[in-house]
Amino acid sequence: MINKILVSACLMGFKVRYNGSEKAPIIAQLAHWQQEQRLVIHCPELAAGLSVPRPPAEIISANGNDVMHGRARITENTGRDVTEHYQLAAWLALRTAQESGCTAALLTDGSPTCGSRYIYDGSFSGQRKPGMGVAASLLSEHGIAVFSDTQLTELITWIEERESDTFS
Ligand code: SF4
Repeated sequence: MINKILVSACLMGFKVRYNGSEKAPIIAQLAHWQQEQRLVIHCPELAAGLSVPRPPAEIISANGNDVMHGRARITENTGRDVTEHYQLAAWLALRTAQESGCTAALLTDGSPTCGSRYIYDGSFSGQRKPGMGVAASLLSEHGIAVFSDTQLTELITWIEERESDTFS
């Protein structure tokens, strides 16, 4: 059985980021997996009803796990509290992954939703810090292996190891 991968829609060239852009520098390397129908393309923020474009949002002085457990908030740069929208985005990503049988996720780093290695610190000044966004955190908490867009090599190795175990 192949390991299916939940992939951020913006990584696949869909212009769904807050500023209406995509982020697809590795799209060519994903074509083979797409042909195998291994990829489940999903944008959690869009699924939760957020618009394109939308104001940038950041987790305030915390991380996605804190937001999902009610210990922190997410606001837009306008000051509007959008915590509940982003919590919904995370739950929808988890539901999509589980219903599609995904065992891994390949997510765009830096996002308050999809970030897995780093996020922004809540000051809206471009300051990064290590940590996960809400969806990455929830997926990881439910046993889905999360990789950032800079960890494609690690994901390839992870899949090869799992599938060679399956078929050996
Ligand atoms: S929520 Fe994730 S998939 Fe959607 S635009 Fe942001 S980083 Fe890309």
